[in-house]
Amino acid sequence: MAKTIYVDNAATTAMSDAAIAAMTPYLKEIYGNPSSLHTVGQVAKEALESAREKIAKCINAQPGEIYFTSGGSESDNQAIRSAAYAGLAHGKKHIISTAFEHHAVLHTLKKLEKEGFEVTYLDVHPYGAVTAKQVEEAIRDDTALVTVMYANNEIGTIQPIEEIGKACKKRNVIFHTDAVQAVGHIPVDVRKDNIDMLSASAHKFHGPKGVGFLFCRTGVPLKTFIEGGAQEKGRRAGTENIAGVNAMAAALCEATGNLEKNMKKLAFLRDKLIDGLSRIPHSKLNGSRENRLPGNVNMCFEGIEGESLLLLLDAKGICASSGSACTSGSLDPSHVLLALGLPHEVAHGSLRLSLSEANSEEDIDFIIRSVPEVVNYLRSISPVWEDLEKGKRPHLI
Ligand SMILES: *Cc1c(COP(=O)(O)O)cnc(C)c1O
Repeated sequence: MAKTIYVDNAATTAMSDAAIAAMTPYLKEIYGNPSSLHTVGQVAKEALESAREKIAKCINAQPGEIYFTSGGSESDNQAIRSAAYAGLAHGKKHIISTAFEHHAVLHTLKKLEKEGFEVTYLDVHPYGAVTAKQVEEAIRDDTALVTVMYANNEIGTIQPIEEIGKACKKRNVIFHTDAVQAVGHIPVDVRKDNIDMLSASAHKFHGPKGVGFLFCRTGVPLKTFIEGGAQEKGRRAGTENIAGVNAMAAALCEATGNLEKNMKKLAFLRDKLIDGLSRIPHSKLNGSRENRLPGNVNMCFEGIEGESLLLLLDAKGICASSGSACTSGSLDPSHVLLALGLPHEVAHGSLRLSLSEANSEEDIDFIIRSVPEVVNYLRSISPVWEDLEKGKRPHLI
């Protein structure tokens, strides 16, 4: 098999050496339960609290504001339900979100709608963002929560979080952000951005899978999501994942420590990739070119199916995605691309390439050579493309 070029880092990342090294002692010698009073337990407890301090520092939070969870989905579920029920206790039944959130957010909101909450889904502009003004205009006296993602997982566009935070603070509404794609990739400061609750996941920044955290600002009520023991101040029961949490802390410290350097490298590779792939006729970059994560490229190619493109790229050793990992395998086009206003036919031909620091310029050159070959081949056997070329139907991009 040819060398593998992994460009699906928005789905998950490889663990860094630092993260693996930080994890192993807690699998071997320091395997104690932090709730135990003996030494092995207490050493584990100290490690847990030290990891909490490190993580808090990376996002400008206090250690007591960090709750460990099993990952981004759990953090999203707990934050949203907690804020919704806290609002309900004061007669507030309205929630504001966007049409292009991750399914961990959207499906939680759909459940809450069935329970009687009313959700306003803000329209997403074609360049891939909502505005603070939209949020401001949607806030009502009975709004319990605003939840807007920090950066989109498919198209990488970054939302005006600081301005939205300001708007929420002014109206005293809880503001949650799914920052799973942002933490460790771009600067995140919960104080500067007026964030009340924030979800993050270790495996998106070179930590292990199955561990994440929820930031909940002091004074913002956090309801218990998993009942049981008194771990995490009684908000999340279960023996703590010490090894995972320590690896997460190491991965995050490494990522934030190298943030500027990594962002610069990734933005260079991303821009080269966008320039190269934009030369394909009837192609389109999805989302703003400037206001996007340093490692995200998401494009549509008219007249082809994203799934076929992925399979043929995989045969060349390129591991990419058509959008989110959750929708691949189904034939529905991405809800994110539809939210941008793309027609179904165009949204079907999407390709997401999400880079990491491990990618080289040679990788990018290889992708720039390979994608046009595959697109041309698929178009050559596509009846849709034939119609487009013969003018039987109009080109949409
Ligand atoms: C990956 C992802 C999640 C889910 O995180 P898990 O740790 O896999 O549960 C949630 N939101 C966004 C934006 C993501 O990219």
